Amino acid sequence: MSWGVTGEGQAKIPSVPECLFCRIVSGGVPASQVLESPRTLSFRDISPQAPTHVLVIPKDHYPDLAALAAADGSLLTELVNQVDEVAKAEGISGSGYRVVFNTGADAGQAVPHVHAHVLGGRGLGWPPG
Ligand code: 5GP
Ligand code: ZN
Repeated sequence: MSWGVTGEGQAKIPSVPECLFCRIVSGGVPASQVLESPRTLSFRDISPQAPTHVLVIPKDHYPDLAALAAADGSLLTELVNQVDEVAKAEGISGSGYRVVFNTGADAGQAVPHVHAHVLGGRGLGWPPG
C-alpha cells in the first residue's frame, strides 16, 4: 500500500479504494463503531492492546498526522475533540488514557490513513516499546 504524499500542501483525498480505513468509512469493511461526528469516525481496534482501544479517524483520507495538520487544522481539532468524547463515552476520562498517532516507519504505522489510538482501562507502561 502506498504511503501517499505527506507534508505541506497535501491535497484532500476523499477516499482511496485500496485503503482499509477508507473502506471502513464507506461500509465496505465492517467495524464496531463507537462514535461518529460530521467528519470523523471512531471504532474499536480489531486487536485491542488495552480494555479500551478505539481508533479515531477523519472520514477523508490523509496518510498521516503531518498531512492532516498541514491540510486542515479544523479537522484535526474535530478529531482531537472526538478523542475526548470517546474517553468520556468509554468511562476512562477520569482514570486516564493515552493517545497515540503512530507516524511513519519507526513508529510502526501500518495503516497509512491517519488515526489516533485511544488506549485506557489499565495502567499503561512508559516508555513505550
Ligand atoms: P498503526 O500500527 O497503523 O498505528 O495501527 C493500525 C491499527 O489498525 C492496529 O492497531 C490494528 O490492530 C488495527 N487494524 C488493522 N486492521 C483492522 C481492521 O480491519 N479493523 C479494525 N477495526 N482495526 C484494524
Ligand atoms: Zn484512507
